[in-house]
Amino acid sequence: MPLDPRNYRLDLGRVLSTDVPLGPLAGIPLSCFTASSRNGKLHGKKTCGSLRSSRTVEAVTVKLGEAAERLCGTCFWPMPFGDPLVTFTNAVRDVLGVTSYTGPDPSPDVDFDPSKEADAAAVLAQGDYPRGDEHDEAESDRYARARFIRERHHGHWRHLHDSMLESNSAVAAHPWLATWAKPTLDALAAVIESERHAFAALLRPDALLDSAAITRLEPPHDLASKEGFTGLGDQAAPVLRRAWDDWAADTARSWLALEDDRSSASLVLHGAFGQRRKGRDEAYAALDELVASWCAQARSVVDMHKAAPRRLLAVSVPPTTFDSYLGRSRDPLSQWEAGVLAMYQVATNWPDGTVALLVPQLIAERLISDTDIAMPVTALDTREAGFPIDRLLVQLGPAASW
Ligand SMILES: [Zn+2]
Repeated sequence: MPLDPRNYRLDLGRVLSTDVPLGPLAGIPLSCFTASSRNGKLHGKKTCGSLRSSRTVEAVTVKLGEAAERLCGTCFWPMPFGDPLVTFTNAVRDVLGVTSYTGPDPSPDVDFDPSKEADAAAVLAQGDYPRGDEHDEAESDRYARARFIRERHHGHWRHLHDSMLESNSAVAAHPWLATWAKPTLDALAAVIESERHAFAALLRPDALLDSAAITRLEPPHDLASKEGFTGLGDQAAPVLRRAWDDWAADTARSWLALEDDRSSASLVLHGAFGQRRKGRDEAYAALDELVASWCAQARSVVDMHKAAPRRLLAVSVPPTTFDSYLGRSRDPLSQWEAGVLAMYQVATNWPDGTVALLVPQLIAERLISDTDIAMPVTALDTREAGFPIDRLLVQLGPAASW
């Protein structure tokens, strides 16, 4: 066959073992070459190395269902892109690929010693960075290692989500694969759940609550009269407003404790002073006080909502996307959203990619009202529906129908 860029080289023999149900594709004709038309191996290329010693090679057309157990394991069959068989084998490949995550050994990405995991949890419960002014290198390394462990668990957990969502949509497009794929996808769901626990153990629920309150705060309006910023001259009010905007945007999207998340406000001040030194130290000290007052306001909002009952929500888990401009994958979930998803999950319905969360009122209101939230959200009411959560999630179906 002449080279054609539209052709896909399909490694049928590697993907289609005889236990893969072929459904309606079992009847489609497959062009092959064989040295023995009755029961010899079937090849995609006449030039296959294992046919070299054969005296006669003939072209045959065999139904896929009958060919499956005779396919050469090293041959490629030329197929047009978009051929149903190409789509189908890619679906099978997605499910088979899952088994690399469900084996007995943990992924090398998150294969941490249990004592290191426990230390990371103990460290991050205090904050993301050592407290105090004394620089202690060993302590700094300990915090850096803890943050690294959390980053790895977060990344791996989201990667597993991608694998689950991809496999689910592959199976949904080829529903006769569902029974064959179920044990593999059930095993993946178990791995995702254990990875979620490992990640959630490295998060602070109080920090997630504080961040939820940020979007409730009114922007400060009396910035021109703040003391300590004379070094900025008449630029004090606009600079401080920018400091607020950046601080509020970053802390609202972060899983860090508010005390660990001051850098965006400091950066604005840093940029405004440039090389100038006059009044700078005084301004930094005043900014510390100002940010502390914003943190206190957020915490008073949290306190106001403390007694409110938790709420049950369904959210749709979004996959990561590939950013071709940056050349790497991009997660639409902010740290805060990922943290909330991991911390408050109470049930899952993976075939639809939906998860039930039982969240504090303040977090529920933010998830429902914040237009920047990347997860479609809907409120659940088990009393009104009369179903347990799991069934309610299934009834709800995929997010597109909400
Ligand atoms: Zn071959």
